[in-house]
Amino acid sequence: MIAVLGAPCSVRSRAESRAAYNPRMKRRTFLTTSSMAAVGFGVSACSSNPKPALVARRPPLYLAPVKASWDRIIRTTVGLRPHRDAGFVLKPDKLGDKLLVHNYGHGGAGMSLAWGTGLMAAEFATEHQSRQAAVIGCGSVGLTCARQLQRRGFEVTIYALAVPPNVTSNMSLAGFTPESGLVVAEQRTPQWDAQYRRAADISYRQLQLLAGPHFGVSWLDNYSLVEELRPPNPGTPERPSLMAGLAVGQDVLGPGEHPFATKYALRSPQIRIEPSIYLENLVRDFQLWGGRIVIRKFETPRELATLREPIVINCTGLGAKDLFGDQELVPLKGQLTVMAPQSDVNYHTNGGVPPVPGASLGIHMMARNDGIILGGTSQRGVWTLEPDEVERKRVVDSHIAVFAAMKGGRA
Ligand SMILES: Cc1cc2nc3c(=O)[nH]c(=O)nc-3n(C[C@H](O)[C@H](O)[C@H](O)COP(=O)(O)OP(=O)(O)OC[C@H]3O[C@@H](n4cnc5c(N)ncnc54)[C@H](O)[C@@H]3O)c2cc1C
Repeated sequence: MIAVLGAPCSVRSRAESRAAYNPRMKRRTFLTTSSMAAVGFGVSACSSNPKPALVARRPPLYLAPVKASWDRIIRTTVGLRPHRDAGFVLKPDKLGDKLLVHNYGHGGAGMSLAWGTGLMAAEFATEHQSRQAAVIGCGSVGLTCARQLQRRGFEVTIYALAVPPNVTSNMSLAGFTPESGLVVAEQRTPQWDAQYRRAADISYRQLQLLAGPHFGVSWLDNYSLVEELRPPNPGTPERPSLMAGLAVGQDVLGPGEHPFATKYALRSPQIRIEPSIYLENLVRDFQLWGGRIVIRKFETPRELATLREPIVINCTGLGAKDLFGDQELVPLKGQLTVMAPQSDVNYHTNGGVPPVPGASLGIHMMARNDGIILGGTSQRGVWTLEPDEVERKRVVDSHIAVFAAMKGGRA
């Protein structure tokens, strides 16, 4: 809200007047309008006081600062996002007399989109008369696909070289970021967009229903820390924004209304997935529903053809590059540095310091039960699972700067 200091109390800004006379006006709209007004957009000057001083009236938000320091680091993890410039592959195919369904290549969005692509893969399977399916892969994509098949009456066996916690999915941040590192805009086609749209909608709904203490899925406030307000990018009619309808509106916190050193903090609730809790529960549910897990590596499609199940679903992520020769698959190496958890910190931040020239990605922090997660790297075509010290230093030092500058001081 805006206070117009030095003006008679009967004089209000235009935003305040509208709010006062329209009790049905949404608080979010009002907050956004008034915060914009605080920085000089749309404030009506009081005629008796043409140059009112403006200060924020919403009480400053208090957030416990993250204790960011090198001596609180407990681990650094690396994962390779399975990216394709043309986006994920979701289609039926043939493998001898078997039905083969491909469901892989989810880039930086495989925790977000998996329930949706899993359901759509299961729909291809239901066109077959058999109700016995083999799912290859035990990450987020394989496990959710297996559950979607079980929900439709299939007897499912998962075959995988590795199971949680030794899969890429465990190395994920993992926010609800269905568009992240997923597709190159110029390569989007209407057909792919339609698949994406449906998968994202299904997943968004499913993850909302899993929120609660049990599954490691919850909502938390995300603060984007910025110096300038920019209108959201709606995309073009041919290529609409991939996030349309998939995010809660932002509340603009202006100067004095938030504890960060940037001018604005754009707050919006976002779904958080805690990979260790989530994947363990998916494994448990899969087994409770009668599913079997077999540890096995496949070198060629011909080996898959020897399986007893008439339906095979390929959820091998980056593994599909060698197994099926998909040369479009490329790793986007990501690493997370984790500090000891803080029970008083339960929020997520994006940015907060000027971007470092040449940095692979902007920085972000997410509070989880298993630690304070610091991320912000995406290195295309890098296959090593060794941490990159330069990137680690950038991400950690940047976060130390963000949280040392927070009002309220370091906790
Ligand atoms: C740092 C980082 C941050 C991320 N942040 C997010 C985020 O915020 N939100 C989000 O949605 N996503 C995020 N991601 C991306 C997400 O983690 C991936 O998209 C997702 O894990 C892919 O899941 P998957 O099941 O396809 O692959 P995996 O988890 O890698 O599972 C693949 C499975 O296939 C098996 N397999 C492969 N080849 C073979 C073979 N030949 N034979 C037998 N088994 C095989 C593997 O053993 C494994 O079980 C992030 C990733 C990283 C690294």
